[in-house]
Amino acid sequence: MIDARDLRRNLIKTVAERIISHADELTSLDQAIGDGDHGINMKRGMDAVLADLDKLAEKPLGEALKAAGMHLVTRVGGASGPLYGTLFMSLGKGLADIPDRAVLATAFRGAIDAVKARGKADRGMKTMLDVLLPLAETLEAGGADLTASLRRCAGAAAEATKPLQAIRGRASFLGERSKGHMDPGARSSQLMLEAVCDVIEGLR
Ligand code: ADP
Ligand code: MG
Repeated sequence: MIDARDLRRNLIKTVAERIISHADELTSLDQAIGDGDHGINMKRGMDAVLADLDKLAEKPLGEALKAAGMHLVTRVGGASGPLYGTLFMSLGKGLADIPDRAVLATAFRGAIDAVKARGKADRGMKTMLDVLLPLAETLEAGGADLTASLRRCAGAAAEATKPLQAIRGRASFLGERSKGHMDPGARSSQLMLEAVCDVIEGLR
């Protein structure tokens, strides 16, 4: 049986490192339709999370997520900092410690509703929500080999942001010219999901 603290540590570390190692890719996606700082922003936030890793891993998962969300709010900046901060803090409020699927699905849905409210955005606007919302549905549906389903869902959903015209965020300033590029926040959401799946699959 893996120790809960080790699992929390592994989850937080893997997610943070995945974003940091893809910072250049996220930045170049944001160069195409934004101001080219999404990777830099996210790396700054995740560096702060990693610097606090020992303390975060000591907390119950819900508290750790809330504290990580606070780091993102204060360090990431841009549009994505408050939005990812809201996602993690809300998720933390809905979770005590390592949850089962049903509890996670409810907490994840609540956290996404908070992101929608905060950003006044919904599906189809070419944002992180275009990955997060389909993921909520896949999680709610459950089923066998859920991590594989979640990976497929996130990959397809991030890819599906390419033809969309941005309605929120800086990319919306480009109007029609925002079409043809993957949304940077959709890709960062996909990367975080893949990191979580890697850790969960490693438990098997
Ligand atoms: P900024 O746009 O301020 O430079 P970032 O580059 O860090 O911030 O983040 C851009 C990402 O934030 C976008 O790719 C998009 O996914 C997400 N985003 C922007 N505005 C919103 C919004 N209102 N709701 C949800 N996500 C948004
Ligand atoms: Mg940007």
